[in-house]
Amino acid sequence: MHKRWTRRRLQVLIFTFLIVLFVDLQLRTSDPPKLSVVLDPPAGALQRAIKGAFSAAKDALRPASGSSREAGHPATEGAPVTQPTLRQEDIFIAVKTTGRFHKTRLALLVETWISRTKAHTFIFTDVEDEDTSSEGYNVVVTDCQSDHSQQALSCKMSAEYDGFMSSDKRWFCHVDDDNYLNPEALVSLLSSFPQEGDIYVGKPSLDKPITAHELLEGNATREVRFWFATGGAGFCLSRSLAEKMAPWASGSRFEQTSATIRLPDDCTVGFIVEKRLGVSMVHCPLFHSHLENLLLVNHRSIAHQVTLSYGMFENKMNSIEVKGSFTKEDDPSRFKTVHCLLYPFTSWCP
Ligand code: UDP
Ligand code: MN
Repeated sequence: MHKRWTRRRLQVLIFTFLIVLFVDLQLRTSDPPKLSVVLDPPAGALQRAIKGAFSAAKDALRPASGSSREAGHPATEGAPVTQPTLRQEDIFIAVKTTGRFHKTRLALLVETWISRTKAHTFIFTDVEDEDTSSEGYNVVVTDCQSDHSQQALSCKMSAEYDGFMSSDKRWFCHVDDDNYLNPEALVSLLSSFPQEGDIYVGKPSLDKPITAHELLEGNATREVRFWFATGGAGFCLSRSLAEKMAPWASGSRFEQTSATIRLPDDCTVGFIVEKRLGVSMVHCPLFHSHLENLLLVNHRSIAHQVTLSYGMFENKMNSIEVKGSFTKEDDPSRFKTVHCLLYPFTSWCP
């Protein structure tokens, strides 16, 4: 009798143990969904970028030694503070354009990716665009000249920076009007950085730092070398870093800084970040300009690229190679084809 009772108890005990084991295993194997998006990308480029981003993020948290940068301790020092998840609308997207490109370039962007980022995208231009603003897009008409001069372009970048600073957004991203921007890929990339860190991320167009001759007082010059993210591929700045840039970037100061090194707007951003603040740029392969051979962008990784571009090179169209809904005649930039791959339910996608 007693023996039977003991055996029953033993069976119940073993059964309970197995249930506990099973529940524990289930809990261990289910990943938090956000993390799996970031850490499980099929594209090698993304993996490298995220890895680079993580190490840069660690660097960004370390105070830069031997530089003018103030100790870059984030607000998270001491007890760990959990950051709210980054949302698309936390990113201020600035698009640089000019009157003569409204119909030829801007319209394509508005039709494709800007239609999905309308509320937090700001189009910086030099003449009104009634058609676009009447549809509720944010068109900022600057007083900048409408040419390709260093001064005119710095004037627009300065307006973009000031626009961001007076917003409540957490990140500033700049693109040209010949860039396709994938908002989901952008959020994934920026989420991988510490949100309170000093981050400047983009892709250089040169294979080594640029050399500038900084104008000093009394007409003397000093040679300076620094990396910069090419504006034609797009780049981003975290709010913490953008705030530290203010003494050289806010109001009329951006154009003054640009004149000091006699280089365009994107170089000026690199100069302020790397030379004035001692913060290193994060080199990221997910940004693309038409200064690189766009045929080399792997078609299987297109959905993970943050920006794409197109343009003429030696009288031939330089664009990404992607098969899909539109022919090269109907879609020479390939932006419509990419958009229909990413958002197949768009009304005009076949
Ligand atoms: N741009 C401008 N004013 C001009 C010419 C160009 O604001 O007179 C802008 C243009 O809209 C684009 C960026 O500057 O966003 C770069 O121009 P583009 O692509 O023509 O030249 P790139 O420098 O890429 O060769
Ligand atoms: Mn261009």
